[in-house]
Amino acid sequence: MNWLARIFKKSTDTTPARVPQIFFTNTLSGTKEVFVSLKPGMALLYSCGPTVYSKVHIGNLRAYIFSDTIARTLSAAGYRVRRVMNITDVGHLVGDADGGEDKMAVGAAREHTTPESIAERYTKLFIGDLGDLNVDTDDITFPRATDYIKEQIALAKTLEEKGFAYQLADGLYFDTHKFPNYGKLGGLSQANLEAGARVELVRGKRNPTDFVLWRAAKPHDLQQWDSPWGRGNPGWHIECSAMSRALLGQEIDIHTGGEDLAQIHHNNEIAQSEAASNRTFVRYWMHNAFLTMNGEKASKSLGNVVYLSDIIEKGFNPLSLRYFFLQAHYRTPLSFSWDALAGAASALERLWKLSEEIADESGRASAPSEARDRFLALMRDDLSTPQALGTIWESLKSEEYTPAEKWGLLEAADAHFGLLLVNPPTPKALTEKDLPEAIRKMLAERIAARTSRNFKEADRIRTDIEAAGYCIEDGPGGAILTKTPL
Ligand code: AMP
Ligand code: ZN
Repeated sequence: MNWLARIFKKSTDTTPARVPQIFFTNTLSGTKEVFVSLKPGMALLYSCGPTVYSKVHIGNLRAYIFSDTIARTLSAAGYRVRRVMNITDVGHLVGDADGGEDKMAVGAAREHTTPESIAERYTKLFIGDLGDLNVDTDDITFPRATDYIKEQIALAKTLEEKGFAYQLADGLYFDTHKFPNYGKLGGLSQANLEAGARVELVRGKRNPTDFVLWRAAKPHDLQQWDSPWGRGNPGWHIECSAMSRALLGQEIDIHTGGEDLAQIHHNNEIAQSEAASNRTFVRYWMHNAFLTMNGEKASKSLGNVVYLSDIIEKGFNPLSLRYFFLQAHYRTPLSFSWDALAGAASALERLWKLSEEIADESGRASAPSEARDRFLALMRDDLSTPQALGTIWESLKSEEYTPAEKWGLLEAADAHFGLLLVNPPTPKALTEKDLPEAIRKMLAERIAARTSRNFKEADRIRTDIEAAGYCIEDGPGGAILTKTPL
C-alpha cells in the first residue's frame, strides 16, 4: 500500500483496531453469547418503537433506555452503531393478538381529530421524552409506518409469490405451517404456540398462528391504501420487517423490544423476513423484562401507568428515572414506586455532587484504573448495570484511587449510562411567576424579617419554605429557589 492509500484508509476505515469482547443474552438461544457483528466495527440495531396514539408510559421507556444502553455500550467499545426505531402510525389493533379496535382510530376519536394529527402530536412527545432522558435522538432514524406502505406491500407480495401467503376476504395471511421452525424465538413449538393463540373469527384461516399481512379495509377505516389485494392497511408485524430491511438491510445484528413482543410479534417478524430473504434476519434478539406496578405489568389497558411528565411535574429530574432503571438488570422485572424513584433521585444527586468534587480535585484529567476496567467488563458482560453502579460507588469513595483515576471512571460511566456524570446539570432557579402565591408571600415576609434583623423569624420562614418542597439559597441578588425532588 503506498503512502496516499494508507492515509486514505486511515481516514475512512471505521474498524476499531481490536474491539473488546461483549456478551449479550440472545433470546434465540436462551444463553449469553459473545457478540460478533456482521460487519467488523459496525453494529446494526433495530428497536420496536411505540404506537403513537397516546403518550408512552414509563414501562415503554424502560424498553427504550434498555436499547440506548446497548447502543452506548457498543459505541464506547468502538463500534459505529446504526440505529432504527419505528414509529407505528398505522392503527394496528388493541390487544395482544390481531383482535380489537384500531389504536390510531381510538386516539383520533378520543381527541376529535385525524390519525395523522394524533401521530404527529404523540411522535413529538415521544421523541421529547427520549431527549429528556438523554437519549441522543439525532443518532436514531425514526421511520413512520405510513411512509413505508410501498415497502410493506412489496414484502407481502414477495411472500405471496413464494407461496407463504393466502388471500381471504379479510385480507392476505401468512401461512405459518409453510415456514419451518416457526416460533423458534423463545423455544416454543408450533403446537405450543397454536394452543396459546387466540381463537379468532376469521373464516378460512388455515392455522391458529397464521397472521395478517394486509388487512382488507372496513368501510369505516380512516387509514387505507391501494394494494394488489384491494384497499386496506398493513398488518401488525409487517412494518418492522419492511422498515428494518429498507433501512438496515436483510440481515441485522440486534433487534430489541420488551419481553411481551418475543412470542408473537418477533416470531412473526422472523417468519416474514426469513421466508422472503432465505437469510438469518437477526443475529441477536434482546428483550427487556417488565416494569411493574404493585406486581402487575405497567400497561395502559390495566390503567396502572405513570408518564415521564408526571415525574417531571413532581420536581424530579427525568434522569432519576434513568438511574432507577439502571439499578436493575434489564432481564429482571422492576417494580416502580415513588419512594424507589425518590431513592434513585437522591443517589443521582449525591453522585453529581461527588463528581463536582472529583472534577475540582482532578482538574478533569483522567487516568486508566483497575476500577474502570472492572466497570467496562461488567457493562460488557450482558449489561450488568446494578453491579457496574456498585463499582462506581465503591471506587469513588475509596482512598485507593487518585482523583484522575476516579475521573476516568466517571467518564466511562457517563458514556455508558447517559446520566450527565461529567457535566451535572445545575438546578433550575425558579422565577417569581413559577412560585405559588403562598410561597411568594412567605418570601416577602422573610425579606421583611431580615430587614428588621429578626433572624429567628427569617429562619422559621425558611424552614416552612423548605417543608413546602423548595431549596432556598441566598445569593447576591436575593433568595434563589429550586424545587426539591419529592
Ligand atoms: P407498545 O407500544 O405496547 O408496543 O410498547 C412499546 C415497547 O414498550 C415494546 O418494546 C414493549 O414490549 C415495551 N413495554 C410495554 N410495556 C412495558 C412494561 N411495563 N415494561 C417494560 N417494557 C414494556
Ligand atoms: Zn416491531
